[in-house]
Amino acid sequence: MSALVEIRGLTRHFDLGRNQIVHAVDDVSLDIAPREIVGLVGESGSGKSTLGKTMLGLHDKTAGEVVYKGETLPQRYAAADFQRYARAMQMIFQDPYSSLNPRMTVGEIVAEGLRLHTDLASHDIRDRVSEWLERVGLNAGHTSRYPHEFSGGQRQRIGIARALIMEPEFVVCDEPISALDVSVQAQVVNLLGELKESLGLTMLFIAHDLSMVRYISDRMAVMYLGSLIELGPANRVFFHPKHPYTEMLVGSNPEPDPATERNRPPTAIRGEIPSPVNVGAGCRFANRCPKVMDVCRGETPELRVVEDEGNAERIVACHLY
Ligand code: SF4
Repeated sequence: MSALVEIRGLTRHFDLGRNQIVHAVDDVSLDIAPREIVGLVGESGSGKSTLGKTMLGLHDKTAGEVVYKGETLPQRYAAADFQRYARAMQMIFQDPYSSLNPRMTVGEIVAEGLRLHTDLASHDIRDRVSEWLERVGLNAGHTSRYPHEFSGGQRQRIGIARALIMEPEFVVCDEPISALDVSVQAQVVNLLGELKESLGLTMLFIAHDLSMVRYISDRMAVMYLGSLIELGPANRVFFHPKHPYTEMLVGSNPEPDPATERNRPPTAIRGEIPSPVNVGAGCRFANRCPKVMDVCRGETPELRVVEDEGNAERIVACHLY
């Protein structure tokens, strides 16, 4: 099946001056099929959010391209491009409080995209807002309330309504559950899963919680220090990680043992993610990897296909494979 969204060699660097370049995203390529959810995981600082924002034109690309339905998107978005692609590609943000304007009512927040990007009459917009508030499990009569009058989970539902009222085909969910209490995380993930099914959405789902990502995603992608280092079917990557970094991430976020149904103790992640400034040659994970070899410090490992079950390839960037 041809991809709905393709990224080819997508790169986003930030120039700090004095020859200091932050390699936030380096040469990432990924295809996302229609109606597919790709989960994107990695520690803070791995470049996940920057990748999502660069895909949607919220950051300029340093190199590479984004192809949407076969059309290469402009290198830099002009105002008209935002207008053009706003309906098709939307983002659900991490912090539902800071991403909602506290001076706007919920009705104004959810309606904003339709007002800016469509010619719908006011009464049609009002109807659509009510419909969407109900669809995300909120009271349609609460349009005149302000964000601070809602709980964290309800505010994230407002953020979801604001994005999906535009009827996008592709949605980047940028850590949509990280700021929520554990008790409401599953509710929001289930809501996104239901909406994905009913609307036929395609998603990039960025999160820290690997269990949630495994639960909602078809494939799982792992990023480390700006690079894609493993990609494959979500269950295979979660239960049989290949890259030593993925093993470490999975070990820090275990699910109960299926045989005993007992919780397994998490293992600590070794060391800290290094600075993404002026990243050199060799494997970026070498200084934390328990399996490091001499070759790892000098040669950057390429992504290789290490498993190919049907059309579900697993690719890994590691000299062990
Ligand atoms: Fe570890 Fe070497 Fe593989 Fe990097 S390439 S993950 S250092 S074994």
